[in-house]
Amino acid sequence: MSKDNSANILQEIISHAKEYGFVFPSSEIYDGLGAVYDYGQYGVELKKNIQDYWWRSMVQLHENIVGLDAAIFMHPKTWKASGHVDAFNDPLVDNKDSKKRYRADVLIEEAIVKMEDKITKEVDKAAKKFGETFDKAMFLQTNPNVLRNKEKITATEARFKAALEANDMAELRQIIIDLEIVCPISGTRNWTDVRQFNLMFSTQVGAVADESETIYLRPETAQGIFVNFLNVLNTSRQRIPFGIAQVGKAFRNEVVARQFIFRTREFEQMEMQFFVRPGTEMEWYNKWKETRMAWHKSLGFEESGLKFKDHVKVAHYANAAVDIEFNFPFGYKEIEGIHSRTDFDLTQHQNLSGKKLQYFDPELNESYVPYVIETSIGLNRTILAVLSNSYQNEKLEDGTERVVLKFPPFLAPIKAAILPLVKKDGLPEKAREIMDELKYDHLCFYDEKDSIGKRYRRQDAIGTPFCITVDHDTLTDNKVTIRDRDTMTQERVAISELRRIVGEKVDWRKAGR
Ligand code: ATP
Repeated sequence: MSKDNSANILQEIISHAKEYGFVFPSSEIYDGLGAVYDYGQYGVELKKNIQDYWWRSMVQLHENIVGLDAAIFMHPKTWKASGHVDAFNDPLVDNKDSKKRYRADVLIEEAIVKMEDKITKEVDKAAKKFGETFDKAMFLQTNPNVLRNKEKITATEARFKAALEANDMAELRQIIIDLEIVCPISGTRNWTDVRQFNLMFSTQVGAVADESETIYLRPETAQGIFVNFLNVLNTSRQRIPFGIAQVGKAFRNEVVARQFIFRTREFEQMEMQFFVRPGTEMEWYNKWKETRMAWHKSLGFEESGLKFKDHVKVAHYANAAVDIEFNFPFGYKEIEGIHSRTDFDLTQHQNLSGKKLQYFDPELNESYVPYVIETSIGLNRTILAVLSNSYQNEKLEDGTERVVLKFPPFLAPIKAAILPLVKKDGLPEKAREIMDELKYDHLCFYDEKDSIGKRYRRQDAIGTPFCITVDHDTLTDNKVTIRDRDTMTQERVAISELRRIVGEKVDWRKAGR
């Protein structure tokens, strides 16, 4: 897929995902609920297949990683210990005229991008004017407009970083005022104060209001792993280094949520916390960076569509942090974070709970709070990455077009479609026999409606690797035509071979990470 005309491609993917039962807006009959989505009949299969693949890669292929499924509700002290009650904030600002709300940090970041754009425009203008004699490096060093903008960018970035580090909301507002940032809706600079907004959703437990207690919907799955560290250590026979993996829902009251399933208020994370001996954490951090990047490549993502991006300002709990970014239709954005979380979380929980969260290392003959490397990937963002990587609008040799989702076969929602050529002459019965044989191994789809060409297109559009067609000859030679989604080539094979052919094609072992 070309990423150049990409705004349209995202729209095409959103429409396709809805039209073919992958992703629906939540409660659509009531006009939807902002930034919440439901997964339809094929979306849920794709989601499950990606999740299973991650789980197998982590838990099944690593003898030193075990799974966990902790509850979404946790004791409220968990979030005090983790720092989320005090520090899981975004800085908000409202425009008094449009009543629209923005993230103050994003307004400033966008203003910096505009300054950078001004430099690019100056360069383009000069390149046109001077033609071949244009010396770009010299121009960048000497043009007064460029120099003024460069200076402004450097000064703004320094002020911005200092304000964030000092948690200085008044200074963030002052930067917005000084940069003369206007609201894109009202066009005015009538801004409220900037205030911190906590991203956690809260609710009450207990039927009687007086007895009730505020609890939170977890904003990350990681803390469920930390509070179970001792339980797992004492029951699993694992020794350090070892990891605990978990998949589950997380909730964040995102201020601005857009770009389809990329940023939603309810989403799923696949996280793994790897406990290591203090002092070895950078070695493991680098190892997990490599392992996780290889996993993304095994999904069929091009190498050029993936990159690492180190964090400029690491979170309060980390001593190193990097994102794996994927080239989404709207540019490179985070799909997974890898963090060296030090002993921050376990120490905090140890202090607040009064329970020792330590490991006795027999080699060193001493106890310590382990250090942690975290790999945290968004399941929904991975679905969007797989969808956008697989979506292709192809022009065929006969002049027609087809939309095809070229999923890696092991991720495809439906593995094979069974299609009787006509709805009579005993062909449906024969096709049903094949369906009954294959359905115990794979999710298959039986379809006898419409012309065979239309049925092929429908399966292409949901990414089914194989179409198996039963025709009149099948009744005598026990052979069927099997069509490959990507090459569209057709081959005649014995029915007795089908289990093997389909099984080999969709085997996750081929990706095997
Ligand atoms: P961002 O900077 O995009 O807000 P983050 O750095 O806050 O993300 P982490 O806290 O590192 O994200 O969460 C780990 C992963 O969880 C992210 O890499 C992403 O894939 C996923 N994730 C985080 N927030 C959301 C969200 N609102 N919607 C969907 N996925 C999310």
